[in-house]
Amino acid sequence: MNPLIRFIPAFLVRFFAKPYVAGDSLDQALAVVQKLFRDRGLLATLDLLAEDIRTDEQAQRNLDTYLRMVDAVGRLPAESRPTLSLKPSSYTTAPLHEGGDGAGSFDAIRRIAERAGERDVSLSVDMEGRHWTDFTLDALRRLHAEGHRHVGAVLQTRLHRTEQDLETLPPGMRVRLVIGIYREPADIALVDKPAMKERLLTFAERLLRRGHYVEFATHDDAYVRRFVEQVVPSAGVGPDRFEVQMLYGVPRERFLADLRRQGITARLYVPFALGWEMAIEYLRRRLDEYPAMVWLVTKNLFARR
Ligand SMILES: Cc1cc2nc3c(=O)[nH]c(=O)nc-3n(C[C@H](O)[C@H](O)[C@H](O)COP(=O)(O)OP(=O)(O)OC[C@H]3O[C@@H](n4cnc5c(N)ncnc54)[C@H](O)[C@@H]3O)c2cc1C
Repeated sequence: MNPLIRFIPAFLVRFFAKPYVAGDSLDQALAVVQKLFRDRGLLATLDLLAEDIRTDEQAQRNLDTYLRMVDAVGRLPAESRPTLSLKPSSYTTAPLHEGGDGAGSFDAIRRIAERAGERDVSLSVDMEGRHWTDFTLDALRRLHAEGHRHVGAVLQTRLHRTEQDLETLPPGMRVRLVIGIYREPADIALVDKPAMKERLLTFAERLLRRGHYVEFATHDDAYVRRFVEQVVPSAGVGPDRFEVQMLYGVPRERFLADLRRQGITARLYVPFALGWEMAIEYLRRRLDEYPAMVWLVTKNLFARR
């Protein structure tokens, strides 16, 4: 992360990143996802911003909140029901990226997966930085072997290992394909964005041919078009085998409406916060990735006056 981003005070980070967060309660987030479906036909995957936890109480609170989220979205009609996205680091005070052993994380994810299975709710396990890759893929394989077929994976095209990893995923698993937001060393990852995006196309085709449901997640319209117009026909699959995903708050209304008109499923990743202190790391990453956010938010602020 750009060291300058680290120096921005938390209240300013929160201010600039506000358009990307759907509120500070589960009820507000649920209202947002229902409105997205009602007004624009967009599905959602709901995410509690809950990183950088320091106490067992916070880990427990994250688990409890996810169980409540499962119950709440399980009561929504099936056609508009959001999926849930979660991060393994949200359930441990010994995170792997700080040299810990991730204690508690797998058990928490399994409990959420069990409850989600009972409520007919789908779950995606987000992919965090490189220290988490083996842990997360192992967890996914274990859950799949235990029969939790409603749990999906995320693969990052920037990592060189992904080329092999995608061959080891259980057949049929739902896979979100992203370039990856964590900066990784050049010996294990691409550093060139266009190359990462080219891999979105080649890896998506391989996943489709392996029988996976592909969640193609990028805001780059040109790559979404190439995916829909070249990769999908080349793999010989229909619209029931893929969807396009973007982040809530990134202005892509017209493009997404156009996809919907073509009968393509589109889903927004909708984060919400309970405690802002645990949302700050996510928000800093967004600022680091897209510093123009500062300019956009300031412009909108003055435009409204
Ligand atoms: C649904 C979803 C889930 C994700 N899950 C994960 C995950 O589990 N693990 C992980 O490592 N990464 C995840 N990511 C992040 C992803 O890896 C990329 O970092 C992110 O999508 C930016 O890359 P891009 O392909 O959109 O291309 P970019 O080149 O970054 O973006 C393309 C264009 O979109 C616009 N844009 C991008 N960001 C913004 C913004 N914040 N505000 C306004 N405009 C913007 C700009 O015009 C930019 O030129 C996820 C992304 C999405 C969309």
